[in-house]
This record gives sequence, structure tokens and C-alpha cells, in this order.
Amino acid sequence: ASFAAAPIRSEIKSLFTEKKFQKPSPIQAQCWPIMMANNDIVGIAETGSGKTLAFSVPALEKLKKVVKPNNTKPKMLVLAPTRELAQQSYEVLEEFGSCLGIRAVVIFGGIPKYDQSRVLKRGVEVVVATPGRLKDLCDEGVCDLSEVEFLVLDEADRMLDMGFEQDVRYIISMCKEKEERQTAMFSATWPASIQKLAQDFLVEVTRVYV
Ligand code: AMP
Repeated sequence: ASFAAAPIRSEIKSLFTEKKFQKPSPIQAQCWPIMMANNDIVGIAETGSGKTLAFSVPALEKLKKVVKPNNTKPKMLVLAPTRELAQQSYEVLEEFGSCLGIRAVVIFGGIPKYDQSRVLKRGVEVVVATPGRLKDLCDEGVCDLSEVEFLVLDEADRMLDMGFEQDVRYIISMCKEKEERQTAMFSATWPASIQKLAQDFLVEVTRVYV
């Protein structure tokens, strides 16, 4: 696999060159064509595999076509179990998205809501969040997920282990219907609870292992 053959556009490709990345990682090489063809995906992969860019590149490619300066409702949501993981994914989406004019925000608990609310009200295309704080902001009417058409559940097994299942299900119910959105789920393991989540929230899934 090479970047030249990958189904991605030049603005993003040049960032790979800048970073001196030689070629797509195995999870990227597998995910990109599947996601660019609008299919849902389950990736069984660990952190360190390059999974953030595996889901971010195709999502940003498509968001590019719908980005408008006066967007107020996010189009993409990434749910992550911890603030550290949310922050890491946010930084990648921010860096790769900004060259396309795509705006992102990261949302997690333990800090005041004020700055997060302000950025949401100004308008973003991408929200990266942990479930608890995001649920609060939705309930307060600060975050409207009704236009989310790209949903990523990152480290889904850890989100369930940490007791976020109810919040995750509630948040997903506020996004577009599964038939009208694209959903990517990443998990290090594939237990029955994760299979059930995939069954409930993804359609015609392609599974990839790395
Ligand atoms: P992740 O699994 O998304 O947390 O990525 C792990 C690390 O791999 C990050 O530091 C990325 O910057 C790096 N990385 C992602 N994609 C590539 C690639 N194609 N070639 C080399 N390094 C990469």
C-alpha cells in the first residue's frame, strides 16, 4: 500500500509527506477504501496502530464537501473513553482538518463547561468527546447532534468497561439514524457486549483486524 494509491486528496496527503510517514499503516490501508465507499466498519485494533488517521482521513475527505462557515451543528462525532484519548484524537482531527477549513472541539469533564459551550455555539464540524460531559451539554441544549452523519466509537470495549454504555446509547440515539450516517467502531477486543453494540448501531458491517 502507498499514499499515491490511497483514495485521499492532495491537501491531506501532503501532511503525510511533511510528517515523513512512508506509507499507510495496515489499518489505514484497510479502512480508507471501505470508508470512502460509505460502508460501516469495525476495526479490531489497538492504540498505536494508526487508527486515528484510519477513521479521520476518510471522514475529513467527506466533510470537506459539506463545510460551511455558518454551520452550527456538528457533522462528525468521535466518542472516546478518556480525556487523554479524546485529546489525542482531537489534535489529529484539528491538524488534518484545519487545512480543509474544518473546525473541531474536544469535550470532557472535570473542567468548567464555559469554553466548550462557547466553541460549540460558534460552530464546529467535529466534536470529540467523552460520554458524560457530552450528555450534559446535549441535555442543556448546548450541543445538537441531530446532523451527525459520521460517528466513531473509539476504544468501544473500554467505554463499556468504564460504565459508559447507557450514556453511549443515549448519545447515539440523538445522532442521525444508522441508515443515514456512517459509523466506525474500534475496539481492542471483540466480546459479546461489543458485538451487540455493533449489531444495534452499525449496518452491513465490514470487519478488519490488524
Ligand atoms: P494511533 O494508533 O492513531 O494513536 O497512532 C499511533 C501513532 O502512529 C501516532 O503517533 C501517529 O502519528 C503515527 N502514525 C499514524 N499513521 C502513520 C503512518 N502511516 N506512518 C507512520 N506513523 C503513523
